Amino acid sequence: MSTFQPVRGMRDLIAEDAETLSYVIGKARETAQLFGFKEVITPVVEPFELLSAKSGEEIRQRMFIFDDLGGRKVSLRPEFTASIARLTTTTLKNEPKPLRLFSAGSVYRYDEPQKGRYREFWQANFELMGSGRPEADAEVILLANNLLKNTGLKNFALKLGHVGVLKGIMTQEGIDDKAQNAILQKMDKKEYETALALVDSENCRKILRGLIELKGANVFDTVDKMKTQVQGYEKAVAAVENLEAILRLVTESGCEIEVVDPAFARGLEYYTGVIFELYVPQLEIALGGGGRYDKLIEVFGGESTPAVGMATGIDRIALAMQAQKTRLQKPTQKRVTVIPIKEEQKAEALKIAQMLREAGLPAEFEVMGRKMGKALEDADKRKVDYAVIVGERELKEGKVVLKDLVGRTQAEVNIETLPSKIRENGC
Ligand code: AMP
Repeated sequence: MSTFQPVRGMRDLIAEDAETLSYVIGKARETAQLFGFKEVITPVVEPFELLSAKSGEEIRQRMFIFDDLGGRKVSLRPEFTASIARLTTTTLKNEPKPLRLFSAGSVYRYDEPQKGRYREFWQANFELMGSGRPEADAEVILLANNLLKNTGLKNFALKLGHVGVLKGIMTQEGIDDKAQNAILQKMDKKEYETALALVDSENCRKILRGLIELKGANVFDTVDKMKTQVQGYEKAVAAVENLEAILRLVTESGCEIEVVDPAFARGLEYYTGVIFELYVPQLEIALGGGGRYDKLIEVFGGESTPAVGMATGIDRIALAMQAQKTRLQKPTQKRVTVIPIKEEQKAEALKIAQMLREAGLPAEFEVMGRKMGKALEDADKRKVDYAVIVGERELKEGKVVLKDLVGRTQAEVNIETLPSKIRENGC
């Protein structure tokens, strides 16, 4: 009989991979708390209509869509923002602003599988709703910076841009939204020549090319040059000024921005303001990204609500940590196995295992009915630190044998003092 494999693009995460993924989610949750973001848990399956309302053509074409048994057209979420927008316009409608919301979970996109690109992957998502001010943008960018720092990653870089610059020019040049999105999508993929070929006006092509080719000595110099480049395009000028204000807040608060990219576009169509992405030198693909989307809540039937958010790719942060050999900072826990010598000591041994767990020590019980020698061999193989051997004679005196499997020593220990002995490495 043939064996089963996961569906293409889906993975089983085992041992260290699972541990690192959970660790990153834990760090994302901690960072959310530090910034005052409250966690919300939304369904993996949502109405197709909701998810397709403003996901952008790019993502819409890559959604897992199906009819449920009630005949509803539904889809696996390709991101969190639509679900959060739904919550904001319904259940959380009357909550005082700003709303700071955090979610973590799996999302699904029919992407072409490759390193760091899967069809089921994990995101930590942060949304700050109700403020259109640069300090709100700065908060989310600083949160991104803190999150990567908290995972222990080194040399990560933040790239900043502003969709208002390209959109401002194109709008003034009379290019409609649909055509703008097609151009931005090509820009996002760095297919600049294809993007420019979609622009009819010679003048507009010239300005856009100028932005694509613009290089500054540093991020502020880049912004100054952008200002000159977009002169006469009112909205684009306002966008550059907004970008500059955010850049100042972020850098003056001690977070370094590596790159300002004047021709930066992100895949999701709903961005209206600042956009950013996170990178490490070891991976070419972004670890996360986000930006401002002031019109989205209206699309979902809510009141006009300025908002800024970001999604980080948990799998990619985990990949980056593995590439940088980042150590997981976790309390060193001793692992213990509890082995009854005979059938008659099983119940007592189970009780001892339970006592260790209640004292906060991870304890595994020998459930394979193995003889002592084999059980110890197995514990050794699995790098367990201690074996607690429960035998008839010692039990009569309220004792067990504590065997240090690393130091190869052993001692008879009173059952009540077992947790402290294990903690003090005492046998
Ligand atoms: P987006 O929602 O497209 O802005 O993506 C946010 C982040 O999710 C990206 O920066 C990646 O880190 C991650 N991501 C997006 N697509 C994938 C994928 N197919 N596999 C793994 N991670 C992904």
